Amino acid sequence: MIANECALCDIEITLENNTKEHVIPNAIGGRKKISGFICNACNNQSGDDWESDLASQLNPLSLFFGITRDRGEVPSQKFETTDGNKVVLNVDGAMDIAKPEYIESIHDAGVNISISARSMKEAKHMLKGVKRKYPQVELDDLISNATEKSYYPSDMIKFNLSFGGQKAGRSIVKSALALVVESGVSANQCEHAGNYLRNTDGEACFGYYYETEVVTNRPQTIPFHCVYVKGNPETKQIIGYVEYFGIQRMVMLLSSTYSGNEFENIYAINPINGELLDLDIELELTNQDIKDAYNYKKIPQGSIEEALSQVIPTGIKSSLEKEKERVINKAVKYAFENCGAKEGESLTEEHMEKVSSLVYEKLEAFLLHQLTIGRKRQ
Ligand SMILES: [Zn+2]
Repeated sequence: MIANECALCDIEITLENNTKEHVIPNAIGGRKKISGFICNACNNQSGDDWESDLASQLNPLSLFFGITRDRGEVPSQKFETTDGNKVVLNVDGAMDIAKPEYIESIHDAGVNISISARSMKEAKHMLKGVKRKYPQVELDDLISNATEKSYYPSDMIKFNLSFGGQKAGRSIVKSALALVVESGVSANQCEHAGNYLRNTDGEACFGYYYETEVVTNRPQTIPFHCVYVKGNPETKQIIGYVEYFGIQRMVMLLSSTYSGNEFENIYAINPINGELLDLDIELELTNQDIKDAYNYKKIPQGSIEEALSQVIPTGIKSSLEKEKERVINKAVKYAFENCGAKEGESLTEEHMEKVSSLVYEKLEAFLLHQLTIGRKRQ
């Protein structure tokens, strides 16, 4: 259904300024879009301002669970490990050193230079610098002797999971408002949401909520996203519930003067594969409950850790599987290219021996890393 006016600025929605808006930002894996909700200008502005803030706060989780986007990739991000090392995590599961390293040591026999780069391209660039300093070195020899190695930190990566703030908060409330409009209820019935979204100093109308299990048929291991709204003329409320990655859980009061028909609407998705989920939601909130949620009083001790522990194993499994696939593909490709056989030539026993030793050589770092993780888990 097409609303007449933009939910954020009241401008009339026409064929020219109508736009498709993701109910849950695509940057974190949301797929569903609705039109006739906000105008093109508001879509662009809220995308730049609110959604990008939400997406960057949730980026560690998007990387961890390997979220795919319609356009582009979840950006790589630098993390510190528990031992203070810096690593870069990529969405394909690969890990890089955070910056290139150049170590020069002088011995009696000459100068020893060791270079660690993030890519062959970067290594070549650094080697050219060496050539300028030591013109006698043979660049081609150095480059052909360079080897690619996978890097895995032996310590743990520190994730910062703090979440919130006024920009991300507005993105959350806007997601709920989109479902209200999709239910055929006008956005201007949601006075609390309107005040918060339209005024820079508008009072936030969401709070964290872990007190009761809202999703009664929770799929235990899926880091799902869901947005749920419910309008009830008896309580005069339109309330909302939003969950991201099964971890961040929020309630909100969109209206406390609602007088229309009773309605409910939900959108729930597994952001890893885009599968829609059929969730049952049970949510009854008094105005006091909501006030308490806004004041951080609905987060029982240990509840966030409990939420995390349900979905984290899925993320570990998914990142290991991705990395396994990536590493094996790369190793096999490398081995066949370097076993000495010419293209189209059938492989001799010698070639095959070379292939298997090269595959092993390339997989060694990954296998050792797996063994270490295995030991840590026991
Ligand atoms: Zn607008």
